[in-house]
Order: sequence, then structure tokens, then C-alpha cells
Amino acid sequence: MKRLECDVLVAGSGAGGLSTAVTARKGGLDVIVVEKEPVFGGSTAFSGGVLWIPGNPHCEGAKKDSPQAAREYLMNETGACFDAAAADAFLAAAPKMVEWFERETSVKFVPTLYPDYHPTVGGGVDVGRSILAKPFDIRELGEDMKRLRPPLKTITFIGMMFNSSNADLKHFFNATKSLTSFVYVAKRLATHLKELALYRRGINVTSGNALAARLAKSALDLGIPLWTNSPIKRLIVEQGVVRGAVVSKDGEDVQVYARQGVVLACGGFPHDVERIRQAYPHLQRGGEHLSPVPTGNTGDGIRAAEAAGAKFEIKYPSTSAWMPVSRVDYGNGKHGVFPHLLDRYKPGIIGVTRKGVRFCNESESYHDVGAAMIKACAGERETAMWLVCDQEALSKYGLGFVKPAPMPIGKFLRNGYLVKGRTLAELANNCGIDAAALERTVAEYNAGAVHGEDRQFGRGTTSFNRYLADPAHQPNPCVAPVRKGPFYAVKVIMGDLGTFDGLRTTPQGQVLSTRGTVIEGLYAVGNDRASMMGGNYPGAGITLGPNMTFGWITGNHLAAQARQELRRAA
Ligand SMILES: Cc1cc2nc3c(=O)[nH]c(=O)nc-3n(C[C@H](O)[C@H](O)[C@H](O)COP(=O)(O)OP(=O)(O)OC[C@H]3O[C@@H](n4cnc5c(N)ncnc54)[C@H](O)[C@@H]3O)c2cc1C
Repeated sequence: MKRLECDVLVAGSGAGGLSTAVTARKGGLDVIVVEKEPVFGGSTAFSGGVLWIPGNPHCEGAKKDSPQAAREYLMNETGACFDAAAADAFLAAAPKMVEWFERETSVKFVPTLYPDYHPTVGGGVDVGRSILAKPFDIRELGEDMKRLRPPLKTITFIGMMFNSSNADLKHFFNATKSLTSFVYVAKRLATHLKELALYRRGINVTSGNALAARLAKSALDLGIPLWTNSPIKRLIVEQGVVRGAVVSKDGEDVQVYARQGVVLACGGFPHDVERIRQAYPHLQRGGEHLSPVPTGNTGDGIRAAEAAGAKFEIKYPSTSAWMPVSRVDYGNGKHGVFPHLLDRYKPGIIGVTRKGVRFCNESESYHDVGAAMIKACAGERETAMWLVCDQEALSKYGLGFVKPAPMPIGKFLRNGYLVKGRTLAELANNCGIDAAALERTVAEYNAGAVHGEDRQFGRGTTSFNRYLADPAHQPNPCVAPVRKGPFYAVKVIMGDLGTFDGLRTTPQGQVLSTRGTVIEGLYAVGNDRASMMGGNYPGAGITLGPNMTFGWITGNHLAAQARQELRRAA
């Protein structure tokens, strides 16, 4: 078998892997990144590209923030799962990580106005902790732009990406109502169509695609080899020390020896069918799960580590970051997964179970709504909800994959994605929902909604509820009655944005064995390591923020370790 040597072998090219690789390379190490898929970027390239970084150098609100407040918030959010060592390491390093990447590499950020997801919890803030990757022209990647994972199809419009900031989306929702928004959208579309004609894909990318592209550009500029189509197959372990890994490159196995260590960054286990069947309550009940995460994230890193004696356990209250999703039929036997990131916040759209009842504040985060859905459907085979609205709300905001007017809806009615009823009872019957209960639920909801109140669940009472709602709708931007037929519904089932449970590590990323000792030479970053959020979702960017920060910590640790060895040898 062919044999190669380097200082650090990184498996996986998402935010976790590439931030570690770039940092270690800048620290003077010889790094190789191997990626299983033909494209690099992983779920990072599909993501919103938002990072939760308390005290970041970008947001106005960050100046009023303090590490103590952020720590208090993390303690309140994570409860019994609070990991003091990880939280303190993260809070101390996160702002420095951002400054370092912006100074030393092509990675750049812009501020957002995101509130924390639970801003009224002690230590929570209304703005200031979430930053966003700056849009990027992928022509800067040269030939390698072809190897960048394209954005998630279901959240683009003819391949055009929306920025995860509210300003961009606002113009698209207002395009038929405001001349400024119309001109903005027309310009964006014209630029995108030109890009499609010239390059057969959008080249001005935003959000997670921009983050993945910027990280890859930084890695490639440093001369880091980024092998695609090259999965790690197993670790090379000698006398309990991880020395390297066997990588399949161009169909041939190569032994890659890594003097300082192997870093597992394979993006957790959202597509490890066996593992999620054991861990997800809704699958245990015989239900369905659809993940928008790239299908290559099959838990390879975790399995390789376990074979080397590492500790992995399912222990968080929520194994994954839940995301309510719907199945989009493309008509050619293929389907897409649509994450319901926006519609739930809008006034006049409510969520009900098959029993015809609401079960939560629909304007809470995807994770909270997902967790509530699992609870509400306990004892049933199917974990699902129907998002229900009237014609007015559908035309204004769209529903799931269905775009607002004047975009046509006929195709979605024909393929069953969008269900219609002249009356609520007809809609309920067409969906298989309890009709009498739905009528009762809507009547009760409407009684408060006409005054802008959600008497059952308090929708619109936090800055986060209102952030993605409709500010033009008053008195409550999240609440409007479901009033005049025809009525519409989209069926929503459970999905995820990635896994939270993972390998146990030190804050530096050293993987721990089942005995609690460090496995020499083995590191885990990104979603391969257990999330410091303990199965909770405190704010926008709480996976990418820690993933990049701990990648930076691990990269620096590896470089410092190599320097120490050199000093010892001298
Ligand atoms: C639609 C969507 C929106 C999201 N938005 C946000 C957001 O705005 N903010 C946020 O914080 N989080 C967000 N997330 C979650 C976030 O994208 C992930 O948590 C994060 O990208 C995981 O980073 P990672 O480096 O661990 O894994 P990934 O980015 O998934 O990278 C892992 C890589 O490892 C590769 N790999 C797998 N097995 C092997 C192997 N055997 N050998 C080599 N390579 C292998 C995979 O192919 C993949 O490319 C979102 C997720 C989705 C799906």
C-alpha cells in the first residue's frame, strides 16, 4: 500500500475540518485534508452561514454584552448538561478566532440583527451575538470552484441564494409591494441569470456557501492539499496511539501517517441509519425522518474513533438539532428536503397535529418546534404537523416550498405538496386531520388573533419570535386570524440540521477513551465531537460558532505541540 506522511491529517472539509486545517497550517504544520464526497464544504456549504460568537467584533450589540452574561445564558440554556470547561474555552477564544481569521485569511463576516433564540432567559440578548459569512465571488477559487458543494436546492430560487440576513429576504417578500424592493429583486435576478448563462451556477454566493468557499480559498491559498473523493476508511493505531489513517484515493488505498495527529471532522452521524434509528424517538415509533444534511455524513468519523477505543454516547435530551421539514417532489423520482425556516413565524400560519390541535408557539426556533412536535405526537406512529393558512397568508408569504403570489401554485396542488380546501373542514378531510377539532382550534385561535394575541402560546412575545415575522403586520407581527377560504396546508415532518451527541473530547479536541483518558494522536472537531450546547439550541449559529472556534483551538494546540517537540529535540 502506498504510504505518505504529513503532520496533520484532517478528515472532512466542512467548517470544523477546514478551520482546523487552516490554523494548523498557519502554525507551520504540513496538513492534508481528505473529503469523502466529490465536492468540498459538507453541511457547512448548505447552511445559513451564521456563527454565534458572543463578544464578536462586528455587532453593535456585542459591545454591551459580556462574557459573564453569555456564560449565564449558556448555563441557563444547557442546565444539567452545562460543560464549564468547554464553555469557558469557547467564550474566551471565539472573538479572538473571528479576529484571527479575518486578519490572516479570506474568511470575512458581517453583522446580523439576530436575537438569541430565548432572549428573555437570564443572560440572553435581543441582538449582538450572531454574525454571518460575507458573500463571496467563487471565481476566486479558480478551477476549484467546480468542487465547491452547491447550495441546498430547496432554499434557492432557480439556484440563486438568499442571504440569511433579514434585509435580503425582506426585499423578496415585498417585491410586489414596494418599488425599492422590486428594483432590488430585479437586479439580483438579472445578475443571477447572467451568472447562470456564463458559469451554469450562481457565482456570487452567500450564507454557508460563502463560508465554505472562503474557508476553502484560505486552505488552498496556503497550499493545503484538499483531496475530494477520498474517504478515510480506518485509523492506523500502533500501541494505543493513532498514527494515521487509511484513505481511499482515486480508488486506491493510501496509508497517510500524521506525525501530530488525525483530526476527525466528518460532520456527525445524521445519515447513520442504524444510529439514528436507536436515538430518534420518532423513528423508534416507526415514523419518518428526512434530513437536509448531505448524505455523506454517515458517522464515519465516530465509527473510526470507536474502533480505536473512543467514547461515544447518546446522552443529550435532543440527539440532534431538530428541523421541521417537508418533502418536495421533483417529479423525476427524486425529492428535495425543504427546511421550514421562515413560514412558521409569519402571521396567519399555524401548525396543527393530525388531531387538529395546535401544540406550541410556532414562532419559536426550529429546534424548539421540532422538540414540541416529538412530544405532541408521543404514542402515535407518525410525528407530523400541518402548517395551515388562508388564501391571504399564502399569497403574502407562501407556505414551505410554495412561493408567495404572483408565483403559481397549480403544480404543488397537483403533486399533493400543497393541500387545498374551500372550508376548514374540507381542508382537514383532504389532509386526514380531525375536521371538527381543526374548526374549534381555528375559532379559538382567531378569537385572540383578531386582537393580535395568541392566548394559548404567546406568539410574538419575544424579539426572536418577531425577528422573522412580518413587521408591517400590527399589532403583533406573528399573529393574524386564519379567516377566509380557500384554506391551504403543507405536511411537515421531522428533520435535522446535524447531530449534537458525539465523541467526548477535551476542550482542545483530544478524543477521550471509554476509560476517560486521552487517545494520543486522535482529535475530533465539528459535529463529530459532542456539542457544548448539550442538545439545546440557544441562538443562531450555535453549531458553526463553536465548530470554527474549537477548530481554531485544536489547530493551535497541534501547532503548539509540534513546537514543543522541536524545542525538546533541540
Ligand atoms: C439547511 C441548513 C442550515 C444550517 N444553518 C446553520 C447556521 O446558519 N448556523 C449554524 O451554526 N449551523 C447551521 N446548520 C448546521 C451546520 O451546517 C452544521 O452543524 C455544520 O456545518 C457542521 O460542520 P462540520 O464541519 O462538523 O460538518 P460538515 O460541514 O458536514 O462537513 C463534514 C464533511 O465530512 C465529510 N466526510 C464524511 N465522512 C467522511 C470520511 N469518511 N472521510 C472524509 N470525509 C468525510 C462529509 O462529506 C462532509 O463534507 C445548518 C444546517 C443545514 C442543513
